[in-house]
Amino acid sequence: MSPILEPIVSITYNENIALAVRIALDQLEIPDLTGKTVLLKPNVGREVEPRLGINTNPDVVRAVFGYFKGRYKANYLIGDSPIIATDTKKAFMQSGYSDLLNNKEIQFIDLDDKPPIELEIPRGKLLKKVKVTGYWNDFDYIISIPVLKMHMHTGASLGFKNMKGLIYKRNKIKLHHFHAPEIIENLKKSMEKIKELDVAIADLSLLFKPDLCVIDASYALEGMGPSSGNCVKLDTIIASTNYLAADIIALAISQPDWSLKDVPHLKLISELFPEAPKSLEDIKTVPESIQQFVKPLEPPPTSITIKYKNVNLIDVESCSACLSTIFNLLKHNKDFIDEHFTAEKPLNLAIGKGITQSDLYSDTYLIGNCTYNLHENGIFVKGCTPVESTILKIIKENLKFGKN
Ligand code: SF4
Repeated sequence: MSPILEPIVSITYNENIALAVRIALDQLEIPDLTGKTVLLKPNVGREVEPRLGINTNPDVVRAVFGYFKGRYKANYLIGDSPIIATDTKKAFMQSGYSDLLNNKEIQFIDLDDKPPIELEIPRGKLLKKVKVTGYWNDFDYIISIPVLKMHMHTGASLGFKNMKGLIYKRNKIKLHHFHAPEIIENLKKSMEKIKELDVAIADLSLLFKPDLCVIDASYALEGMGPSSGNCVKLDTIIASTNYLAADIIALAISQPDWSLKDVPHLKLISELFPEAPKSLEDIKTVPESIQQFVKPLEPPPTSITIKYKNVNLIDVESCSACLSTIFNLLKHNKDFIDEHFTAEKPLNLAIGKGITQSDLYSDTYLIGNCTYNLHENGIFVKGCTPVESTILKIIKENLKFGKN
């Protein structure tokens, strides 16, 4: 965290998003990066089409790269490590990054393709060590380029949370597995929504410090983020060399009624560093008033409900990988589900490490390794995350043998 008392955040609106990026970056003081190795870290976590508010818009990343390349002769890298069961290169290609991947002036790296480096976090409340990308020591300057999203598990996913992609492969999942009731009970006194996951993400801030944050709100995601919400075109860019300040401003325009407590990992980070901004009042914005950029987004749901009458989803402390898989399964197979399940005899699905026997119906599909302890109480589908086709195959097999 930069020891600047009043960090600067620039915010721009323009349908020409490359121009919005350029104007936003022009307002910031960026060090001379000549000869340095610079990582562009967009959020490309899923194999989806571009401009849906799920992955970072490639137009924004292209504009950031163009801006830096024109100013500094540096060694540019672009990469990510997506959620499990996603091919990094395929995710980039499908999301519209093929020209950047074929550009000889920037090198694509799959952050998982080198053996990891294990780092200690002695001050971490929950996370005491973490395996990070094997490229960790190669970067001189990290540019976090997240897409502005609501997130059902963390409130919102912005510049800092995008850094989770520096964690090596499946080690990301470990952040979802902590169980520390004493710590959480204590923190809940001042932050009602806090969970172990928020604490573990905040612990990462003792290691991960993006040097520049360019938040892509060209297309943002409201509601059921990180991947099942509605895409909203905002044509907005928020940039700062202080990532927490950028995240605070992104929240101020998208959830003006929220405080940092609604995104507990940000609140915890603001408390970890005395010099960190704690609220809007600690930040200088360019322009001074951000009122014209405010566009309230639908917040993420506090509990997961399924709009289908013939599906019961029980989700207790799952991670977004399993939940996204379930949403895709339901979305892609609605006709099949409607044909075989009714409100009286629904499809029962359970996910998450917090599921207990009392949550289950007699014929529940227990999805994912997190539910293994209850495998004798339902139809267990192994995997972390199990793939959509496997879950569907098992449901079909059970229908065939009349098990439900
Ligand atoms: S089984 Fe599902 S909920 Fe559990 S850690 Fe794996 S992906 Fe997450």
